[in-house]
Amino acid sequence: MSANPDHPAHPDHPFRAPATVVPPGTVVPPATVVPPATVVIVGAGPRATGLIERIAANAPGLYGDGTPFELHLVDPHPPGGGRIWRPDQSPLLWMNSMAEDVTMFTDESVEREGPIRPGPSLAEWAREAREAREAREVREIREAREAREVREVREARGGEPPHALPSELAAEAAALTGRSFATRRLQSAYLRWVYERAVADLPPGTTVHEHRDRAVRVTGPRDGRQQVWLEGRTAPLTADAVILALGHLDAEPDAEQRALTAFAAEHQLIHFPPEYTADSDVNALRPGEPVIVRGLGLAFVDLMVLLTEGRGGRYERGADGELVYRPSGREPVLYAGSRRGVPYHAKIGYSLSGERPPVPRFFGPAEVDALLARPGRPDFRRDVWPLIAKELGFAHYHRLFTAHPERVAGEWSAFEEKYAACPPGSPDLDVLVAAAVPDPADRLDLDTLDHPLAGLRFGDPEALQQALRGHIEADLARRHDPAHSPDLAVFLALLSVYGQLIRLGDIGGWWHGFFSFLASGPPGPRLEQLLALSRAGVVRFLGAETTVTTDPVRGVFRASSASVPGHAVEARALVEARLPEPTVDRSRDTLLRSLHRDGAAATPAGLLAVSPADARILDRAGRPHPRRFALGPHTDARASGAFARPGTNAPAFRQNDATARALLRCLRELSCRATVTA
Ligand SMILES: Cc1cc2nc3c(=O)[nH]c(=O)nc-3n(C[C@H](O)[C@H](O)[C@H](O)COP(=O)(O)OP(=O)(O)OC[C@H]3O[C@@H](n4cnc5c(N)ncnc54)[C@H](O)[C@@H]3O)c2cc1C
Repeated sequence: MSANPDHPAHPDHPFRAPATVVPPGTVVPPATVVPPATVVIVGAGPRATGLIERIAANAPGLYGDGTPFELHLVDPHPPGGGRIWRPDQSPLLWMNSMAEDVTMFTDESVEREGPIRPGPSLAEWAREAREAREAREVREIREAREAREVREVREARGGEPPHALPSELAAEAAALTGRSFATRRLQSAYLRWVYERAVADLPPGTTVHEHRDRAVRVTGPRDGRQQVWLEGRTAPLTADAVILALGHLDAEPDAEQRALTAFAAEHQLIHFPPEYTADSDVNALRPGEPVIVRGLGLAFVDLMVLLTEGRGGRYERGADGELVYRPSGREPVLYAGSRRGVPYHAKIGYSLSGERPPVPRFFGPAEVDALLARPGRPDFRRDVWPLIAKELGFAHYHRLFTAHPERVAGEWSAFEEKYAACPPGSPDLDVLVAAAVPDPADRLDLDTLDHPLAGLRFGDPEALQQALRGHIEADLARRHDPAHSPDLAVFLALLSVYGQLIRLGDIGGWWHGFFSFLASGPPGPRLEQLLALSRAGVVRFLGAETTVTTDPVRGVFRASSASVPGHAVEARALVEARLPEPTVDRSRDTLLRSLHRDGAAATPAGLLAVSPADARILDRAGRPHPRRFALGPHTDARASGAFARPGTNAPAFRQNDATARALLRCLRELSCRATVTA
């Protein structure tokens, strides 16, 4: 593969050319000697990209540096970003992680057997892109000046700055700081660059075949070569091993969603079931029309953006500094509610100074070992949550005592000892905390965090709007004020807990929702926009415990909530602003469903069961498949859904490394056998 002119190379890792990439549609003549080992990866998004990076890193030690193999990558979307991070999407859609918190490269924190291959985070990559561009500009101008052709060069460029990225992404990369929220398109370019670098690092002679296709079935015996069947093709790809990195999948609607769709069809209404917002036909939502939106998470933010700025609306700063929304007049009115009734907490806008919370302390490998050693599956609420609650409280109070000692009574060591002895949620713990932390606002109350509007009733919808705006303003202020740094300690503890939970497999949906609500919320600027949209009347909040019913007489959807008793909103459009549940049996992915039908096990919550050690797909007897692996949100090892943050021993890196090593060992054994047979 040659250097890609569209993407900047990392200065420490210039592109070299050991692997060959065979573009889609190329016919390759059949091999006449013992065929090289062949791997098929289905899905070419971030997960597959990270796995290829680990295969490349581990191959020299485990597979022999000079032993090539064939790698087939199957995905209808371009490799690197795949579907979610494809380059052709609205520039208005952002990541919800800060650029400095996104990396595709391992570091010393990662517990892994394979070698560390350092590389830039998204923020560092953007900086390098900017520096490369500046260096190039300086060089070009010097050369042009020498030739007295500066003006001609600028004119020839049409005023565009020279850059390896398309100009709008170059401009974004140039302005990006570690604390910026990049567009999904810039992240797409980063992922593409990582992909190309990983491919270039594969053993010399390796051939990478890119198939822009959908895989529909995997067949083959447990102890023999596997066939991967592609949609519309008669001959399968034959592989020694198959890895599924299928990511976020569309799902068949459940009974409630089917009934809502049928009601919509009967009354000429619009109903969007759970789906990836960027794929929804938002044009169907008409200007000025009320739209009921169920969900206030990240899918809601995407929808809000596409229907406001995406329809020509603009934001301006008022004289008082407040953000003002100037509508285009083409926006619908979004009536938005959810179980909690409030949007996710804003991303924390300051860095940690001083001591990190010393976690894991109450929920680490030893506690997970103990849970796994018990007979039967641990019950999340009974067995796991108390340990998590204790861990989060520990991080919170550790931070309060060490960073804000003026707000506590007594010494940390004395508190810590007593805290360790108090069961979570016990009256003893309440007494201990009340004595040591005088201001109730400084105490950690996980129940109130989970139900922020519980028990609150408003006389009319306008009072709710004001209260909700107050709630969001307070959240924004708090999340940008280091005086509340125990929030950051809890966030770091949440990440630690997430990493531990991976070994317990599927632990149910509530935890994921709670985690996302606290730790995976929108960028602060998005909440500022939401406030402006609320003031402009484009977004109206429905409140907590939002329910949606159908009215066959009036032929409308109706939404009400516990927050404003007796009040309801009618609309001819209903949007479920959330991703589909990643269950195997309801997945629209033919490949996943057929795999399940052919004997792959699913967990009680419907995820594909894989071995925690190396992500091998399990059958219903619990036996790991020798040649099939699966990684990502559709598996019970999904605790690693988000991009890795540098220095956090990210679960995705650990899994990718273990899986890459298991795969390479498998290929090595097979190639030894093939050589002996030949
Ligand atoms: C909308 C959205 C925004 C997110 N934003 C962030 C964020 O800002 N920060 C963060 O840390 N995390 C974020 N995440 C979470 C996480 O980083 C992403 O989910 C990430 O994309 C997961 O990578 P993946 O490769 O496992 O899955 P995906 O990105 O879903 O990639 C899977 C790929 O498999 C392909 N595929 C599936 N089935 C088949 C088949 N049968 N045949 C061929 N190909 C197939 C798909 O086309 C797709 O390209 C976000 C997730 C979503 C859904």
